[in-house]
Amino acid sequence: MNMAGAELIGKEEIKEVMDVLETGILMRYGFDKERKGVYKVRQFEEDFAKYCGVGYALGVTSGSSALKVALEALDVGRGDDVLVPAFTFLATYEAVLEVGAIPIMVDIDDTLNLDPDEIEKKKTPHTKAVIPVHMCGLAANIDRIVEVARKNNLLVLEDNAQGCGASFKGKKLGGFGDMGTFSFDYVKTVTTGEGGMVITNNRDLYLRSEWYSDHGHDHNPNVGRALEGRTILGFNYRMNELQGALGLAQLRKLDYLISEQKKNKKVIMDALAAIPGVGFRAKQDPGGDSATFLAFNFPEEQIALKFQKLLAAEGVDTTCYKNNLWHYIPNWEHFLAFSTANSKKHPFTDPLYKGKVEYLRETIPHAEDILGRTLVMGISVKMSSERLDVIRKAIEKAAKNI
Ligand SMILES: *Cc1c(COP(=O)(O)O)cnc(C)c1O
Repeated sequence: MNMAGAELIGKEEIKEVMDVLETGILMRYGFDKERKGVYKVRQFEEDFAKYCGVGYALGVTSGSSALKVALEALDVGRGDDVLVPAFTFLATYEAVLEVGAIPIMVDIDDTLNLDPDEIEKKKTPHTKAVIPVHMCGLAANIDRIVEVARKNNLLVLEDNAQGCGASFKGKKLGGFGDMGTFSFDYVKTVTTGEGGMVITNNRDLYLRSEWYSDHGHDHNPNVGRALEGRTILGFNYRMNELQGALGLAQLRKLDYLISEQKKNKKVIMDALAAIPGVGFRAKQDPGGDSATFLAFNFPEEQIALKFQKLLAAEGVDTTCYKNNLWHYIPNWEHFLAFSTANSKKHPFTDPLYKGKVEYLRETIPHAEDILGRTLVMGISVKMSSERLDVIRKAIEKAAKNI
């Protein structure tokens, strides 16, 4: 299992966390006298916004809550539906349901991400937004997606949980749409244990997110927390200072992390490229890849699965996402049965929603084809030359037997 940011936890993270523990103030807001100038979440947000080249960043408790906060800020809710790619982690769909809207499953293209041509094909009169997900560290055709969405008056929320630090034609992912979200969970590229970020260039959307994530508090710097004003109701998705501290140290390591992963990925890619018939995931901007994963494909599903078995026998694991239980909607039996936590199957049964949705494999032929023929290998930051040799030899051996 590749661990990305978690592999690099060291004295820098310890120092940042100790700064917080020495003040004893774990809350990101308030306690201005007691905290002795330590504002880790605030600083992490500022650094993160700068890194992404956007105006605003808001730290939250997870990538899942980041999606929910953003959808609330965008005013996506009951009666609306949202276009979501068939290949993504469950959280993207759950977030749409959390705000009372209905996710519509759309197909992917050769980037393995949302196909821009699907937007006009699959949108309904109730569609309010589209959520492109930059899966496995590589950009969707995001410039086209934004263009088609704008033309159709749809909001764009980028789920960039898996593409932290990745870019498209020189611009960091997450900053193309109206809003973008990130996850810092334990396996993500930057980790704070659990955590997430919402980014945007729109001040109103930022403020609505900020208020919503903290019970409506307007964070007026001139009064104490108890006297702060509020305009909307919210909930609690606040990031805490320990998470902010970890994030600060991790963010400083991000470019190094990506460059190491790129080197490791290249060694493995070169070995695979020597095999006749092997292809790679389409990229419009290869340099923008965060290199957390390597996706390669075969002409046929049967060959891919055989190759996967042969690699596994040598101790090299890959994922075929068509068979994966958590990242491919046709495999979510509980979702397909509308088994919501509430007994009313809300929002699938919401009378305010006037559309009708179905989640059928036949409607995503490209995902069915390409994901079945594709194997995905996790790339770690630290891969010894011995480990890379094991992988290279496993690839050469498997290639002789398919
Ligand atoms: C990890 C992930 C999330 C959810 O992030 P958490 O921090 O684990 O809640 C959302 N979307 C995608 C694509 C992810 O990979």
